[in-house]
Amino acid sequence: MATEQKTASWRPAVGSITLAVIVSLYILIVANYTFWSRAYVYFDGHRLACAGFVAGMIALTVAIAVTVSVKYLMKPVLILLLLAAVAAAWFTDRFGTIIDREMIRNAAVTTSSEAGHLITGKFMLYMLLAGVLPSLLIAAVRIVHRSFPSKFLHNMAVIVPCIALIAIVGMGFYPTYAAVGRIHRDMMMTINPHFPIGSAIYYTATYGDNLNLVRQPIGTDAHQLPPAAPGKPRVLVIVAGETARGKEFSLAGYGRDTNPEMKARGVTFFPDVTSCGTETAVSIPCMFSVYQRGQYSYRKGLTTDDLTDVLGHAKVDVEWWDNDTGTYGVADRIKYKYMPDTRDPRFCKDGECLDTILLDKLDDWLANVKGDSVLVLHQLGSHGPAYYLRYPDSARRFTPDCRAADFATCKPEEVTNAYDNTIVMTDQVIAAVIDKLKAHRDQLAGSMLYLSDHGESLGENGIYLHGAPYFIAPAEQTHVPMALWLSDEFASETRLDTACIAERARHPASHDNMFHSVLGLMQVETSVRDASLDLVSPCRKPADRLAAN
Ligand SMILES: [Zn+2]
Repeated sequence: MATEQKTASWRPAVGSITLAVIVSLYILIVANYTFWSRAYVYFDGHRLACAGFVAGMIALTVAIAVTVSVKYLMKPVLILLLLAAVAAAWFTDRFGTIIDREMIRNAAVTTSSEAGHLITGKFMLYMLLAGVLPSLLIAAVRIVHRSFPSKFLHNMAVIVPCIALIAIVGMGFYPTYAAVGRIHRDMMMTINPHFPIGSAIYYTATYGDNLNLVRQPIGTDAHQLPPAAPGKPRVLVIVAGETARGKEFSLAGYGRDTNPEMKARGVTFFPDVTSCGTETAVSIPCMFSVYQRGQYSYRKGLTTDDLTDVLGHAKVDVEWWDNDTGTYGVADRIKYKYMPDTRDPRFCKDGECLDTILLDKLDDWLANVKGDSVLVLHQLGSHGPAYYLRYPDSARRFTPDCRAADFATCKPEEVTNAYDNTIVMTDQVIAAVIDKLKAHRDQLAGSMLYLSDHGESLGENGIYLHGAPYFIAPAEQTHVPMALWLSDEFASETRLDTACIAERARHPASHDNMFHSVLGLMQVETSVRDASLDLVSPCRKPADRLAAN
């Protein structure tokens, strides 16, 4: 007993309400730079409303912290709030990242090597100074708790005025808050840790909804039309891109020559394509789903047959090789290879592989094609922040290139150089796919469709990486490259007019078109193919006209 008292006396004592106020202010000041900066800009001209807003946010945070001021609960909760706030602030303040439910889902399903690039030495140092040290202080102090009735009264004496203040300010400036909130929905999404913790709770609460779901078959009537001339198997290689933004493609008019190889092979480029999501976990299942962006949801994707299933219903062989972070449920029912599992030292290091690994076994696969087939190659592409790890020296065209995962240490032009080199690498990978298809032209009629899942911010308006909520996502994150290449054999067997497709390519398109256009390319007839979304079938020559040619 005597020892306990002695130990206790070493530790500074602090009242529970005082500690709640100190931690609240610390979080609001240290971990909310983005939030306050946006509030300052968005409330321009409404200084009184802005002051009321600041007071309201302080009152809200203090009220929450005081609510958890219960013995044995207070310290762990305050430490959790503090650590969550400063960790989220690192990404919000540096990269403009908004940690919503989709971002939490992406983080939960991502690979450890991918996440590893975000956990840099600087991040660890920052967490130690801004998060761990203050947490140790909270752990060390002796909180003076009152007896329960007295504590209840004292806590309520803080919480009730806080809520009253929020109500008065909220009602007093309601028109301003409603207007600012409607126009700038992103502002409240940057407050730490309120929004990230709310997102995590929302994600956890709805997680069970996506388990044990029953899959709804669609397109079971799917069947392939025979080729114009009975001949070689029709083969489509889909290159599913990662984090490539359309703007950076010279085929779309970019000032740097990032696509010399695709250009030399005469691919048809679609310069105006928008993505379904701004992150892999949304875009990949959406691209392969029958639903358009406005109708798509994660749950609907999981409960409805996707493109690979419908191709399977039509007896097309479908296979998926993944060098990225997986298929998010898309390839669960088809042949699947996860490239990083090979740990092939020619391509892989620390759990990640160069995209050239996708080419390594392609000749073998093409040589063994028996019938009409679709092969999906899911790239690691331009995935950041460690862009420099995505390409070998042969694609290091633009220098000096940022050679760090923490690109805040690099100049903006070095980041762009590294990113542009990833596009050069993708150009080379796509060209190699086309060359391999050409090399097997005696056995098969080959085609290639390239489409990226989403784009990337490279510092425009202070935003980096991707994953912004769609309604506020900058065009850099939603404008994606798409390219199509048909061999003469494929065009002739499927009666497709490449000049007509090139004309269609000049008009806007989106991920909504992918499901239907792939069915069109492979001449799969089914009630679920929407002809109005199929980019290629309107360019199919009638059978009689072909015969006359
Ligand atoms: Zn992605």
